[in-house]
Amino acid sequence: MAKYAIPEPKIQTLPIVGSDEVFPVRRVYCIGRNYAAHAVEMGHDPNKEDPFFFQKNPNNLNLTGNFPYPPKSSDVHHEAEVLVALKSGGTDIQYSDAMSHVFGYALCFDMTRRDRQGEMKKAGRPWEIGKAFEHSAPCGPIHRAADIGHPTEGEITLMVNGEVRQRGDLNQMIWKIPDMIAYLSSFYELAPGDVILSGTPSGVGPVNKGDVMRVSLDPLGHLEVNVI
Ligand code: MN
Repeated sequence: MAKYAIPEPKIQTLPIVGSDEVFPVRRVYCIGRNYAAHAVEMGHDPNKEDPFFFQKNPNNLNLTGNFPYPPKSSDVHHEAEVLVALKSGGTDIQYSDAMSHVFGYALCFDMTRRDRQGEMKKAGRPWEIGKAFEHSAPCGPIHRAADIGHPTEGEITLMVNGEVRQRGDLNQMIWKIPDMIAYLSSFYELAPGDVILSGTPSGVGPVNKGDVMRVSLDPLGHLEVNVI
């Protein structure tokens, strides 16, 4: 095998509940505006759009329990989401077969530099600096589908400093998990290690240093993250 000319980049992994094994991450896909009430709060008509996706980087996933407030923004928002981890992939996956590719689920945040994202939207430019920055996806361990099944409903709640900010139900997702897998696989080749952040309910808003964010969803427990 050829020797690397520079230090080898680390493969990002996620812990798995009840296991010594870890889940290696290949790509991080994120869907936008997947809850109707959130689409409306962002100024869009939820009935008129195909799904759309952006990506974060695997090493933006952050398991430290802390979210360092990023530079170059003064309006960083919480978006509480469910991460879907794939154990297999392919192209043109059929809806009816899509769920057979799911390994498990985790709680996570799609932290967003909303001011920067807004500027990029206005200019018709890519969103990356608003979305794919260091530590921008705090997340918890993966719960295997083999252990918890495939949740399709249940209240997802986000509290900041003990006050409810976001509340929705998984059954309100416009594009369900098999829809997302089938749609993504028509544009990309999905593969083991890919994860999908499945969108956020309404109620997104700013956080500040010192805040404590806590997201909960029944079969996944809760995840607490400090803004530092
Ligand atoms: Mn999001």
